Amino acid sequence: MPTFLDEAEIFVAGGAGGNGCVAFRREKYVPRGGPSGGDGGRGGSIFLRGEKGRNTLYHLRGKLRYRGERGRHGEGSNRTGKSGRHRILPVPLGTIAFDRDTGERLGEIVEDGAKLLVAEGGSGGRGNARFATSTNKAPRRADPGRDGVERWLRLELQLIADVGLVGFPNAGKSTLISALSAAKPKIADYPFTTLVPNLGVVARGPLDEPFVIADLPGLIEGAADGVGLGFQFLRHVERCRALVHLVDLSVLAADENSPGAAESLQAIERELERFDSALLSRRRVVVGSKVDSVDDERRRDLRQAAEQRGLPYLEVSAATRSGLDQLEFTLRDLLATAEPEDDMPDTDEVSS
Ligand code: GDP
Ligand code: MG
Repeated sequence: MPTFLDEAEIFVAGGAGGNGCVAFRREKYVPRGGPSGGDGGRGGSIFLRGEKGRNTLYHLRGKLRYRGERGRHGEGSNRTGKSGRHRILPVPLGTIAFDRDTGERLGEIVEDGAKLLVAEGGSGGRGNARFATSTNKAPRRADPGRDGVERWLRLELQLIADVGLVGFPNAGKSTLISALSAAKPKIADYPFTTLVPNLGVVARGPLDEPFVIADLPGLIEGAADGVGLGFQFLRHVERCRALVHLVDLSVLAADENSPGAAESLQAIERELERFDSALLSRRRVVVGSKVDSVDDERRRDLRQAAEQRGLPYLEVSAATRSGLDQLEFTLRDLLATAEPEDDMPDTDEVSS
């Protein structure tokens, strides 16, 4: 199956267990009481936990190593050491975890809130109170705590577009995606190279959840021509919660043999409708491109077409980067208010 992969490699280590304690009761008139050394506490473990609002593994890139807290050592008076706190790393639904070095598949996060243990904390050592027997009433033995599991993890996520970019060839879609994107995901074995959606991860603000934007021209054109489309393509279209109509406003596009700006918009709308009429009721925004070299008549034409449809209208230039921030804000806004995609098709590979 062809996939767009987001990947992250991180080192995870469960916390070490605390040592067992050697201690004896001190009592009045008893020179040496019984053994009273408590057990060490467990080290904290590392878990992955599914979080519905996340789209990418991007947030894990900033830091390479994650450790669980170590367990405290046992103490006298039979006090067990405190367990170390677990660490929970949020990941998007659909994340698959592998042990990087053995290749072992540790599991997949399918549901919101589901947890996967990826590095168990070490157990605490036994205190000397545990070693007392009828023949050895004052044992001086206690166990050290055990180390936690340590491993390199490789996380994999199939990226699915949140925002679809549609428009004529040459509208500037690929250029816009590169200009908006922080990351170029890996493209694995796509069978129809001419139909590969160009995909990018928009992650500019450090506090903003990244979202995925894809250019889907081949998808639409291919579908209309009856080209056999993979399930993955359909998932991209179905998952898109917002669509950007990109229309070339440059003077180069303003020659009398090519369609006008409003006409281009309408042609794409017809394609979308033919493919799946529900697409037109997605959140949409009309964006004029290449305004560094704008043709005023195309600009007026497109703005008016957007107004007639009651759609937001923006202008950008990938070349000068003007309008990119505004476009990103608008898309975040649309995504925040769009319907949650509860009725997404199941992933094709579901772990038991
Ligand atoms: P796509 O077919 O929709 O993916 O369009 P591309 O991104 O490949 O762009 C088509 C052409 O328009 C290329 O020659 C780009 O260099 C040019 N182009 C893209 N963005 C801009 C822009 O903001 N300003 C100008 N002047 N040209 C642009
Ligand atoms: Mg392109």
